[in-house]
Amino acid sequence: MRAYAASSRGPLQRRLLHTSRSLTYNVLAIETSCDDTCAAIISRDREKNTAALIDHVKITLDSSLQGGINPALATAHHHQSVGPLIRDVLKKHADTTIDLVCATRGPGLPGCLSSGVTFAKGLSLGLGVPYLGVHHMLAHLLTPRLFEAAEGYSGHKTEFPFLSLLVSGGHTMLVLSKSLYDHTVLCNTADVAIGDALDKCARTLGFQGNMLGKVMDQYCRSADTPSSQWNIPMPVDNKNDIRYSFAAFHSYIGMKKKETQAETTPELALEVQTAIFNHLMKKTKAAFNIYKKEIASATTLVCSGGVAANPRLREALQELCAKYKLEAVFPDPYWCTDNAAMIGWAGIELHEDGYRSDLEGFQIPKWPLAEFEKEI
Ligand code: ZN
Repeated sequence: MRAYAASSRGPLQRRLLHTSRSLTYNVLAIETSCDDTCAAIISRDREKNTAALIDHVKITLDSSLQGGINPALATAHHHQSVGPLIRDVLKKHADTTIDLVCATRGPGLPGCLSSGVTFAKGLSLGLGVPYLGVHHMLAHLLTPRLFEAAEGYSGHKTEFPFLSLLVSGGHTMLVLSKSLYDHTVLCNTADVAIGDALDKCARTLGFQGNMLGKVMDQYCRSADTPSSQWNIPMPVDNKNDIRYSFAAFHSYIGMKKKETQAETTPELALEVQTAIFNHLMKKTKAAFNIYKKEIASATTLVCSGGVAANPRLREALQELCAKYKLEAVFPDPYWCTDNAAMIGWAGIELHEDGYRSDLEGFQIPKWPLAEFEKEI
């Protein structure tokens, strides 16, 4: 029997070589870093420099009963969902040849990442095509470039160097990206992420269900102006201290709710949301000023992550960016949350740049963007 290592001229290797030169190819991408099991198929035309999203499917874990994501339940959710999800999407697109399989390698919850990575590696072997492990945060940063690669697109193009503001339940960071592998985090959270703070504050105000920050946003849209009944203090209120910090909002709001027993109104909810956004804007502006020289050649600020779907935040950011001569780019709210399309696109950019993953590579739950390198 021939050993696996000796089969270097077998069908798998032939396909690998073929794919690295191919001008048109299709990518299957899997995202399982947190509580969304997602799969996408993207077709790429390298000659025309275009890409088209063929399909995207997602199954989100309902954590409303737990009041937050339970890592063990999230892992079980991915193990349960990823197989049927991929089976169905491949069946639906049976006439589409898959040439590359990508999966989120990190950062994220260890068990969740492992589910997607293991499935993708098995699938790549089964299909006889390469596997590529993608950095989740890089994928968020590159999201606008997928849609800018659509055939016939003629709007603003996000080119290196560019700035990104990632605002989600897991991250709050301002990043300067000079290339696929050169990222400088200009401002990061010292404690919890903005989305986490919004969710927790919303729960304290009495909201129930899943994605509470979003529920609170919908609720306070009927308010024209925020109330000023709780006089919420700004954390890290020193303009030379470039750190986001959101944990104090939750403790202060919990204390005020207990103390005043105030009824939650749209105006009060808006006061809480506005205070959190004001802190984000204040520190982002301070970072723009402190890193003026470093960011001088950037012309775009990409705002992504689940919180970037908030219309009030979008408006505030657009105003700030206009002052700094930056084009604010907001991916469609659906693509601001975790998805597999961004993983597929980042996989395409990396693959074409010569980045490779091998089957020995395992998930990297903690993977700072600044440590993402071509050779790993
Ligand atoms: Zn994410």
